[in-house]
Amino acid sequence: MKIDIDPGAGFCFGVKRAIQLAEEALTRDGTLYCLGQVVHNEEEESRLKNLGLQVIDNEFFKTIKGTTVLIRAHGEPPETYKIAGKNNIRLVEGTCPIVLRLQDKIRKSYEEARQHKGQVVIFGKRNHPEVIGLTGQTMDEAIIVDDEKDIEKIDFTKPVCLYAQTTKNKDVFELIKHKISMGTDIKNTHFDANNTICRHVLNRDEKLKGFAKGHDLILFAGGKHSSNGKYLFSLCQAVNNHSHYIGGVKDLNPEWFEGIQSAGITGATSTPEWLLEKIADEVKALTES
Ligand code: SF4
Repeated sequence: MKIDIDPGAGFCFGVKRAIQLAEEALTRDGTLYCLGQVVHNEEEESRLKNLGLQVIDNEFFKTIKGTTVLIRAHGEPPETYKIAGKNNIRLVEGTCPIVLRLQDKIRKSYEEARQHKGQVVIFGKRNHPEVIGLTGQTMDEAIIVDDEKDIEKIDFTKPVCLYAQTTKNKDVFELIKHKISMGTDIKNTHFDANNTICRHVLNRDEKLKGFAKGHDLILFAGGKHSSNGKYLFSLCQAVNNHSHYIGGVKDLNPEWFEGIQSAGITGATSTPEWLLEKIADEVKALTES
């Protein structure tokens, strides 16, 4: 049986960078706190934990002093930096540079919007860490639009400046943008739409569908809580009925491979390459035995 690993799979640049920074700090200091999980992948979390990385939450973060904390690729709101400054906490800045630039744009738009009674709108998932970091640039005044219903929260008599969480779906963004533009057109209001979805995510969809179509069976490796994983898996399922979502090698079922000529292995943006390779080795062992 032919076994292929999706060349587009593996960590995105931002996550790779944050992990590299964590590994460097762990080699130097032996232990490191991280505010929230670096990646939503149980296997990678456990690898980093074994290296000395300790995941903490916001409440615990407020209680520590004089130590080092990693900021993950999703970024943090300004409040986190204030607390770190006050409590003499050294931050390892793992925020993805693309997210940092987006935070900066949103902060500037917010400052402008305040002068013109405008509104900053963020198309994103409520309570997602990246979105918390983005709305933090607006004193939490940005309007979060998670789906079409949320558009009702926008006041169409006032200017609107729209941004997108970097990992959102481009088709839904276009739909939201269209609906907002209808409201702003009627009221003759200024509307500035910024598609800030990351290129890594934008390009992935079509390539992934092509990869899933080109194999008899797809093994999609992702964490239980990875929203990006669930979304990307749905793309595979849409074009290949033999798609399976797995956490790791323990979830493989030998029966899946009966009569299968080719298997494609892929995963979420938070799935490490080493895990895909481990799965490929295990499938090889299962099907050759
Ligand atoms: S998806 Fe893009 S913006 Fe988000 S962390 Fe990865 S590289 Fe950065």
